[in-house]
Amino acid sequence: MADRYLRFTGTAPGRFLTRRLGLPRPAALTRWSPERPALDGGLRHLTAGRSGLDLAPVLARTGIGPAGSDRTAAVVLDATGVRDVEGLAEVHAALRPVVRSVSASGRVLVLGAPLDPADHHQAAAQQALEGFTRSLGKEIGRGRTVNLVRLTDASAAESTLRFLLSPKSAYVSGQVIEVGTPQEPEGAPDGDRPLTGRTALVTGAARGIGEAVAETLARDGARVVVLDVPGAGQDARRVADRLGGSALLLDITAADAGARIAEALPDGLDLLVHNAGITRDQRLVNMPAERWIPVLEVNLASVLRTTDALLKAGALRRGGRIVATASIAGLAGNAGQTNYGASKAGIVGLVRSLAPRALAEHGVTVNAVAPGFIETRMTAAVPLFIREAGRRMNSLAQGGLPVDVAETIAWLAHPGSGAVNGQVVRVCGQSLLGA
Ligand code: NAD
Repeated sequence: MADRYLRFTGTAPGRFLTRRLGLPRPAALTRWSPERPALDGGLRHLTAGRSGLDLAPVLARTGIGPAGSDRTAAVVLDATGVRDVEGLAEVHAALRPVVRSVSASGRVLVLGAPLDPADHHQAAAQQALEGFTRSLGKEIGRGRTVNLVRLTDASAAESTLRFLLSPKSAYVSGQVIEVGTPQEPEGAPDGDRPLTGRTALVTGAARGIGEAVAETLARDGARVVVLDVPGAGQDARRVADRLGGSALLLDITAADAGARIAEALPDGLDLLVHNAGITRDQRLVNMPAERWIPVLEVNLASVLRTTDALLKAGALRRGGRIVATASIAGLAGNAGQTNYGASKAGIVGLVRSLAPRALAEHGVTVNAVAPGFIETRMTAAVPLFIREAGRRMNSLAQGGLPVDVAETIAWLAHPGSGAVNGQVVRVCGQSLLGA
């Protein structure tokens, strides 16, 4: 699983050779750790167009001081007031002189406004920010990320801005995230452990990404329930014991899985993370139903069934979160994965349709993460050549780690993220697939 190329390019001969041969030069990403909880350097707050956002107090709470003569760790460009092509010239003028100064593993964050259906000039200018963000993400290099957040209320977007301006979002780049207005007032969460008092159920959490999700939610204070198949019972118990949680051994495709979860959690739950997933790759012409059906069952049908059952039973408490796991294969398609691609695209449809209703009727948000190439047992089994291509074909020129997906889910689960609903956030280092 180790990315030897990434390690080699971090050495002096590696740097020399990759530069001379024009090979991909992945930067070692800075990820969150208790010793390094914030980006290293200051923040520059720029504006293009006339903004009505009250952004300064929110940025002050991110923990990154203003950039003086020291390193610039992050640039936030408030472009919410850009309404026409002239306004886009201000975007160019504001960012061009400062991009070079952003340190390695730093952040460029563009803030935009929702597209105005009554003003096609504003809509054109705001949509232009998307192409701008994605293009800058592809050229900026050195482990730096570029994302766009569309918002109307800075405080409703605070948890999102904090996430994107922290080392927790190291592998999230080229994304467009829409933040609405929260339905319900949000209590001030405990700073270091914002999920204290919340119960999280993570499916497929005995290993891989699910294990990292359970671990990260537990770090943030949640009581975790590690769900996996009975065959993975030993690993599931080990993870649960380590995190002070409990294991729930059941096959998520069982018709009564939702009822059994509700029974195991009589006080209800706050966070439901649909992570369990399988692949059975084969080109469609050779794919028997035995390889199609289980993938659709585990990755999609069981997600639909358990979500419906738990919402109907009132098992998800108000303020709750549902996060499902899609994949870039579901967005871009992938040869040999018609079953998997269909199942993961189905997750996107589920999220878009259910999100507004689940929020209105149950006070629960519904979002998805779409991982790209993540270093797990699933991807370690991929043949070497395809694995290398998967690793390098993204703006950060490396695979992500399970913790990158976990941190993204922890942001969506945060009590302050109630205004983030119906989003599909790719955790893919801005993969070229489906970009
Ligand atoms: P993994 O194979 O390492 O782990 C999956 C876990 O799900 C295992 O513990 C397995 O026992 C469990 N599981 C499988 N079927 C189950 C069932 N019927 N009931 C309960 N548990 C079940 O996979 P991973 O790489 O950690 O992937 C996790 C999720 O992320 C999956 O949904 C996968 O499709 C998605 N994903 C992964 C990648 C990647 O690069 N690894 C990329 C995109 C999407």
